[in-house]
Amino acid sequence: MSARNDQHFLIDKKAVERIAGAIPVAGRMVLEIGPGKGVLTGALLDRGALVSAVEIDQDLVDSLAFEFAEEIRSGRFTLVHGDAVRCPLPPFDVVVSNLPYSASSKITFRLLDTGFEEAVLMYQKEFAQRMLAYPGTPECGRLSIMVQTFCAARSLFDLPPQAFSPAPQVRSTVVHLIPRDPLFPINDPDLYADIVRALFSHRRKTVRNGLKSAAGMIDRDTLQQIMDGLPEEILSLRPEALYLEDFATIANLGCP
Ligand code: SAM
Repeated sequence: MSARNDQHFLIDKKAVERIAGAIPVAGRMVLEIGPGKGVLTGALLDRGALVSAVEIDQDLVDSLAFEFAEEIRSGRFTLVHGDAVRCPLPPFDVVVSNLPYSASSKITFRLLDTGFEEAVLMYQKEFAQRMLAYPGTPECGRLSIMVQTFCAARSLFDLPPQAFSPAPQVRSTVVHLIPRDPLFPINDPDLYADIVRALFSHRRKTVRNGLKSAAGMIDRDTLQQIMDGLPEEILSLRPEALYLEDFATIANLGCP
């Protein structure tokens, strides 16, 4: 059984330092999602970061408020009690977090929408592998395409279950994301996001049938324009076989 609110606390001090030191944080506004008992929070504050943390668990919020009372008073630490999937996020430049695994996908999509300078995020290893899977391979999904379209993404290092208490059943991977312009120009990022979502919500269907099923999500004329413009070689593929350039081609046909 997995822990309540994915509460696996990092106990490997070297790992804490590697995560806190993965990008320069001094003087930057750092968002930490799920600070837990504050081990990473403390390391970020020690490095001169201005930390804002969002924690869902009231008991943990209370003990963090006690432990970091001085940093809160001095304005170096802001603590928000809330669900990072939906609560208003405090202002931030970068994100450094050991994410709660069951909310990883929603939080990552949210961060992509919100925007950030760079992010160091810990995920369940299999999740990170899917996120970093090359377009055109079976592991690739909606999150892989959206992350790799708008960010340079790389895996930094893995951690074993014993790095945490209680130990999870899976390995973890720390990932570094830096937003950058898409490699293939995208005329309308919202339409692009809708196309990627529509195609991967039917990942067993071909592009042709996926687009036909997207009528509730995307305007009918736009869909028709896309289908009229696409060659059979793309229409007959499944979304997992498409490359980033293909997704841009599909979306740009709907918004020339
Ligand atoms: N950062 C701490 C560490 O490394 O030891 C804790 C990491 S633990 C994997 C995940 C943390 O996220 C827990 O403290 C949990 O209470 C919190 N959490 C879970 N779901 C959350 C959510 N939706 N919004 C904010 N915090 C959440």
